[in-house]
Amino acid sequence: MSNSPVWHPFTQHALEPAMKRIVRTEGACLVDEDGARILDAISSWWVITHGHRHPAIMEAIRRASETYDQIIFAEYTHEPAEELAKGLIEVAPGGLEHVFYSDSGSTAVEVALKMALGYFHNTGRPRSRICVLEHGYHGDTIGTMSAGERGVFNTAYEPLLFAVDRLPFPGPGREQHTLDAFDSLCASGEVAALLVEALVLGAGGMKVYPAATLAELKRIAERHGTLLIADEVMTGWGRTGTRFAYEQAGIAPDILCTSKGLTGGALPLAATLSTAPIFDAHLSRDRRRTFFHSSSYTANPIACAAALANLDIWKTEPVADRIAALASRQRQNLKRFEADPRFRDIRQSGTIAALDLNVPTQGYLSDIGPRLRAFFRNRKLLIRPLGNVIYLMPPYCVTEADLDRAYDAIDEAASAFA
Ligand code: PLP
Repeated sequence: MSNSPVWHPFTQHALEPAMKRIVRTEGACLVDEDGARILDAISSWWVITHGHRHPAIMEAIRRASETYDQIIFAEYTHEPAEELAKGLIEVAPGGLEHVFYSDSGSTAVEVALKMALGYFHNTGRPRSRICVLEHGYHGDTIGTMSAGERGVFNTAYEPLLFAVDRLPFPGPGREQHTLDAFDSLCASGEVAALLVEALVLGAGGMKVYPAATLAELKRIAERHGTLLIADEVMTGWGRTGTRFAYEQAGIAPDILCTSKGLTGGALPLAATLSTAPIFDAHLSRDRRRTFFHSSSYTANPIACAAALANLDIWKTEPVADRIAALASRQRQNLKRFEADPRFRDIRQSGTIAALDLNVPTQGYLSDIGPRLRAFFRNRKLLIRPLGNVIYLMPPYCVTEADLDRAYDAIDEAASAFA
């Protein structure tokens, strides 16, 4: 235990060793106070896409900070936010026409939930229910915790959480079960929105489900006038192989939540994109139909400039090739564990690879997670298993040699623990 006054997130200070200070970030690595290079194999909680301190993003931040700091975003606007909104609409296929800014993944989802309820309220057909997938994670604010899986993380806060309808996870062979459950829930006419992580449920255990199921969920939602909210906070910006995961389902959500990789991970920013009917439902001479949401740092111009640089990198650099190469190297590496009894449920979605260590102690609170973390930390690897679920989600600039080294360490860890 350290005597620092800093209270860290998701950290049991009574059990954690003193934290190493990071003094610099570089490409796929963090450099600590002893000069050691640590491979950031989880992109610093999934935010860094192109690599730490991509020069074009850092330059955009530097230049924007010569002109702007924060600017109130009601009554006034600014070029970085205007240009970014246009750019986002251009790259997010399927009828998304409006962009609402906020500052984290959680707020992007909170905004989406409020937009959905506001849409039904303002059009005179109020709906009160929100439907989600079991094992979902959407953030740690009250609304997003309510929508996420219930468990040890939120037991203490239960009195503050609202009820949602939970669909069974569409695991292999269980897809129809999920679809039928959704169809019958929607038949009530009360479900405002289905909120789902697209293709991969992240913090819930890197659980992957087929694009065809997402497509079918959208079709059912449409039939019942229910909105589809795609939470692409983790999956956006190439993680699953395409810029947004929903593209693989050949559908478009009514509301899209993006954050993390939106700025390439360099600065906090989020956007919630909506279709025209949702915006229009808030357009009225009656002020009560205003979208009542804001946060102080909405559309921070420097963060918007970083996001514009990210859009530019997608246009000017071979990002798709890098993603394909990383996905391919992940696939090759996962192959070595295919028939290995020390692992279960080997899975991949684009650049995200995950596998479960075959140990009897499971669940997030079992000490297998912290023991694995320490094992990897000793090998200068930042890998944070979710219980016995080991996953790798590195920045796209990771070298093959570094990635292979992470797999060598996973192999060693399996011999030590499984
Ligand atoms: N939604 C998803 C799918 C996430 O993975 C996360 C964070 O990991 C969030 C929302 C919350 O984002 P933030 O931590 O930026 O609030």
